[in-house]
Amino acid sequence: MRHSAPKKELLPNPVIYFQRLEKLCAERGYLLDKSVRTGDGLHPLYKIILNPSSRRTYCFAAGIHGNEISGPWAILNFLLGYKARPGDPRIILLPVLNPHGFLSNKRLNQNRINLNRRFFRRPLLAARRQIAKLFRGEAIDFFLSLHEDDEKKGYYLYRYGAHEHIFQQIIDWLKARSSVCLSARIYADRAAGGIVHHPRSDGSLEEWVYRRGKAAQSACLEVPDAQLFNHRTRLVSKMLSFMVSQSADLLR
Ligand SMILES: [Zn+2]
Repeated sequence: MRHSAPKKELLPNPVIYFQRLEKLCAERGYLLDKSVRTGDGLHPLYKIILNPSSRRTYCFAAGIHGNEISGPWAILNFLLGYKARPGDPRIILLPVLNPHGFLSNKRLNQNRINLNRRFFRRPLLAARRQIAKLFRGEAIDFFLSLHEDDEKKGYYLYRYGAHEHIFQQIIDWLKARSSVCLSARIYADRAAGGIVHHPRSDGSLEEWVYRRGKAAQSACLEVPDAQLFNHRTRLVSKMLSFMVSQSADLLR
């Protein structure tokens, strides 16, 4: 979790983010769906689909906490460098799930709501219902939500799903290139080797997609903002590329 504003680094302008994303999708003919909007209707919730006819599906999501900005930029970086290869999975990108927060560099939405909680509450709040709509009719093999942590110095994962291999491969990849949080306790949860294997229920999106059967496996990656913005953004985008290139193994 991230509570503070990012450190004063030279950070990119969030307004140009959406311009770049749209331009890239238009140039490459990527399927960009903007039909679902935020609860107040003011912003589209971008959903990009790559390789629409592939059998297995990844979903990479980010920006549900608006000030955790490396996730959205890592997804854009990933997309910039992406060249489809035979065997690549279908890839759903949900790069900015809290556009209000992203544009104003705030964790919460414009109504000061933490969007990444209470997904099991009924009735579902409009702002969360709109996010839930993005998953209608989807059968995702692996869902990954990108977050940032301003306390821990290393990467770690919250894991939802029985397929331990995929979580371990991601952590091993990160460990070989950066630092992983190896504490036996991460906040209120027990952890081992950088993975919270049995997270407490918190009503988060990553928990909801798993428990509602939208995703067979699901994870939340916490990215340490102790690392400089450019560094962690580049590393996470490379990790996404790694996941795509190894999908036959990771989704086996
Ligand atoms: Zn977060």
